Amino acid sequence: MRKVIYKIGRLKIVIVISMIAVLLAVLLNYLFQSFQEVTFSYSSLLRAAVIPLIVAPLLSWYLVGLFLRVIELEQKMSEWALFDQLTGLLNRRAFLHRAEQEYRSAKRYQTTFGVVVLDLDHFKSINDQHGHKAGDSILRDFGDLVLEHIRQSDISGRIGGEEFAFILPNTNLVQSKMFAEKLLKAVADRVVTIDNKAITYTASIGITVSFPENDFKINNLIHHADQALYEAKSAGRNCYKVAESLL
Ligand code: GH3
Ligand code: MG
Ligand code: MG
Repeated sequence: MRKVIYKIGRLKIVIVISMIAVLLAVLLNYLFQSFQEVTFSYSSLLRAAVIPLIVAPLLSWYLVGLFLRVIELEQKMSEWALFDQLTGLLNRRAFLHRAEQEYRSAKRYQTTFGVVVLDLDHFKSINDQHGHKAGDSILRDFGDLVLEHIRQSDISGRIGGEEFAFILPNTNLVQSKMFAEKLLKAVADRVVTIDNKAITYTASIGITVSFPENDFKINNLIHHADQALYEAKSAGRNCYKVAESLL
């Protein structure tokens, strides 16, 4: 229904509704004249058309507009339920849902996938030094960077304040490491200008891989990647580490 309405367009719908209203008014007037057995009058038919000709376009223009707005809001609300407003990436719940789907598909087709967890470094200091708004701008910038760099088949989400996660379908450990290296370099090369101040930032990454033969659930995999992330933080940040379970 909504697709049809969008396809036809507001103006055409209003024209059709108005024509139907005018035709109905004229038809009713004609029937009324016939049943009442009054002398048939064309001017009466014409008068019957005048009111709907004025009211129908105005009213239907307003109502169709209202209907289109409701459809738009409905679409926005279903987007808001899935996506994080700041970064444009999936929110935690939607990410975990997609990750579960990938887990089931990988199990079924016996494929390997990478699990990458990333946390922005010293983010508290960035907020403290440049303000919360600057922190938000950096999060937004990171969201743009991710959308520029990942494949369409990869799943990316904001799973915490300045913590992100990625599921890389059909990806082994070597390829996951390459992904992490590429991402770390892209982050480190990024410059965000806020109030004429150039701000750079870095990230740390933890990696694990799900093989068809092991039976780690998504929560376990993220936990392993998180532990590797912790190692990366301890190792000085701006680097990646691989989960111990793979070493
Ligand atoms: P580390 O390198 O160990 O990760 O240090 P960190 O400072 O990044 O980590 P910590 O957990 O101490 O602080 C995280 C900070 O991220 C604190 C919090 O205010 C900030 N933060 C979380 N979400 C948002 C957000 O949406 N906007 C902004 N501006 N800051 C956020
Ligand atoms: Mg951090
Ligand atoms: Mg954190």
